[in-house]
Amino acid sequence: MANNHSQFLQFEDKITINRSRVDSLRVSRNKLREKIKTYFKDKKSSETQPKFHGQGSFMSKTLINPIPRVIEENGEEKTLYKYDIDDGVYFICNDDDCTRKSINTYHSWIVDATDGHTNTKPIDKNTCVRIIFSDGHNIDLPIYFTEDENHELAHKSKGWLESDPKEFTKWVTDSFKTNYQIRRLIKYVKAWKDFREYSNQSLILPSGLIFTILVIRNYVSNDRDDIAFFETVKAIRNSLGISFTCYRPTKPTNEDLLAEYNNSEKILSELDSLVSKAETAINEDDSQESCKKWQSVFGDRFSCSNLSNQQNLESLKATAAVSKPWSATR
Ligand SMILES: [Mg+2]
Repeated sequence: MANNHSQFLQFEDKITINRSRVDSLRVSRNKLREKIKTYFKDKKSSETQPKFHGQGSFMSKTLINPIPRVIEENGEEKTLYKYDIDDGVYFICNDDDCTRKSINTYHSWIVDATDGHTNTKPIDKNTCVRIIFSDGHNIDLPIYFTEDENHELAHKSKGWLESDPKEFTKWVTDSFKTNYQIRRLIKYVKAWKDFREYSNQSLILPSGLIFTILVIRNYVSNDRDDIAFFETVKAIRNSLGISFTCYRPTKPTNEDLLAEYNNSEKILSELDSLVSKAETAINEDDSQESCKKWQSVFGDRFSCSNLSNQQNLESLKATAAVSKPWSATR
């Protein structure tokens, strides 16, 4: 049976953001924080001043390098790196003044505060204000009002929603505290999603947040990452076949994150195709052939170039094992 565990590990290295990228994204996030703080100091000095707390995959260290997207802009080719960063903006009520403004007021303040920070206008979404940078990355700013340690998200269509992003980050990071295979599997699934959406621009798969929850809930452990990946995505496919839902593990626990996806059949068929490709790869005899199958799952960032070395090494080891009895008698 083919074994591509080490190609998976090498792939994880490739899709994991490096230190300098982490630093530059953090700098970008902190500059935006400064911009917002200055706005409130200068223009809203009598209001509660905002505080910030990072959330999402950047905080739980499950952010992956997206496949660079090459677009044409004013007749020139441009490469976009679509990193998605989330930074919570908190208006924390203090004892003297707990007046809560309207959801639209908070949203329009943040839009105002960030306008002009990049060449693109801030996008006022239901769940956050999104700032898009020229290199392709975006920073999402969900807005919270906090009273007695309870956080409520300013959602433009659903109203104030009880929410605990810090608790969610903890739930995710606790899941792989003693087992980093879970974190690797989250990254592999996200990389599959990225490659599928890159190959088919009209395809919308569930968000990285949803896949993170699904991997943790359906995780099947194995010494080998290729098998663990296959077993886990198969378990995800089966559970979604029984009930196409994904409830948050933390507040609001009654929120089905898959409810807004009206393309469940398409998503299930994408998962079917993933499971069947993974199964074929696992059942291959030749590791080179199976590696090609994995490339059809993840794209050419999944490298097979170290395979010939590995196979040479394995045959050398086999030869060494045979010659052992003689060497042991000396
Ligand atoms: Mg986001």
